Amino acid sequence: MSAPRHDAHMDLLVDVRRTLGAVADKALDLALPASCAGCGQEGKALCRECRPALDVRLAAEPGVPIGLPADLPAPLLQLEWCAPFTGVTRRALHALKYDGERRLAPFLGAAVARRWARAGAAGDALVPVPASPDRVRERGYDQAALIAAEAGRQLRLPVLHLLERTRATTAQFDLDRATRATNLVDAFRVGSGDGRLGIAGRWLILVDDVVTTGATLAACAGALMDAGALAVSAVAVARER
Ligand SMILES: [Zn+2]
Repeated sequence: MSAPRHDAHMDLLVDVRRTLGAVADKALDLALPASCAGCGQEGKALCRECRPALDVRLAAEPGVPIGLPADLPAPLLQLEWCAPFTGVTRRALHALKYDGERRLAPFLGAAVARRWARAGAAGDALVPVPASPDRVRERGYDQAALIAAEAGRQLRLPVLHLLERTRATTAQFDLDRATRATNLVDAFRVGSGDGRLGIAGRWLILVDDVVTTGATLAACAGALMDAGALAVSAVAVARER
């Protein structure tokens, strides 16, 4: 008796997916039970056993760890991150970015809040690094914006969507280190919306998912400083080296 109803339900799902495309796909995926991005265990998007991986640097001293080059990209005042871009952290970021698993964002945003609360010198507001509009259309969300929303809630800091991309940049991993920075010059600008008025004299904190060379953060910080920011720091979920 229940078989025909099930078929009708599936037909409807297929129909909705076909009609509404990628965004509906993502929404429907959220109706399914999550499995842990770290270990595959069913239940939460990130299980209790895997969560500590996001906090491995929680007690680390702020700033550049001893033994690593002092590579704080100008004009950033501070750059912090929660964990190396490996293992559970890497898989969680990948699932948020490419598998539509937005239920990971609260876990990642909370880790950012914990690290910043311990290591952050100061700051008035969070500013997510914007993904390209094409990517946002494709995924139905901007992962850094979701991470910043949760971090802002926990840190009790406003989240300001001040930046926009001026053009699509070549995928960073296709470029050598030297041309990465050039690729990003003028890639970001302060948007015309709630933008400029909120920037003057403020200490802003950029939020991103993964930082590699820091060239993206430096380009964003440059745009904010040009628009009158007092200072710009940054915090990411992970750092890749
Ligand atoms: Zn797990």
